[in-house]
Amino acid sequence: MRDLPRISEIYKSFPAKEDCIRYIEKIRWSNKPVCPHCGSHRITPMKKEFRYHCNACNVSFSVTVKTLFHNTRVPLQKWFAAIEIFFQHEKIISARRLAEILGVNKDTAWAMISRIKRSGEEYGDLFSRLIESGENLIKGKVEIK
Ligand SMILES: [Zn+2]
Repeated sequence: MRDLPRISEIYKSFPAKEDCIRYIEKIRWSNKPVCPHCGSHRITPMKKEFRYHCNACNVSFSVTVKTLFHNTRVPLQKWFAAIEIFFQHEKIISARRLAEILGVNKDTAWAMISRIKRSGEEYGDLFSRLIESGENLIKGKVEIK
C-alpha cells in the first residue's frame, strides 16, 4: 500500500469539494470564468456558489462543464486521488484495486478509469495541466485563493 500516503495528502490538501472546485477554476480559467459553451467572458457570478451565468448565450454553468468531472456523483477529492493513482500505476490499474483504494464500488471505479483514459484525449489541455500540477497538488503548494 505504498501509494496511500500520497493519497491522504490529496485529501488533506483538498478537504472539501469547494477546495477542488477552486483548484479547477484556477487551472482552467486562471480564476477568470469563461463560458464553456460560447467562450464569452461576459460572465456574472450567481448567488449559488461556483455557478456562473453567461450574458452572451444566457446559460448557467460551473467550471466542471465539459470536463471529466461533469455530472459526477463521485466526490471531486476522489477524482483527484483517482487521477493520481492512475498515473502512479503507469495507467494500468484494475477497477477492483482502484475501488479498494478509493472506497467506491467496482462499477464506479471502472467508469472512473475509462473516463480518465478518454479524458487524456478529449479534454487534453485541462487534463494535462491537472496532471502536470499533480506534484504541487499533492504537496499542497498550490495557492488557492
Ligand atoms: Zn456563453
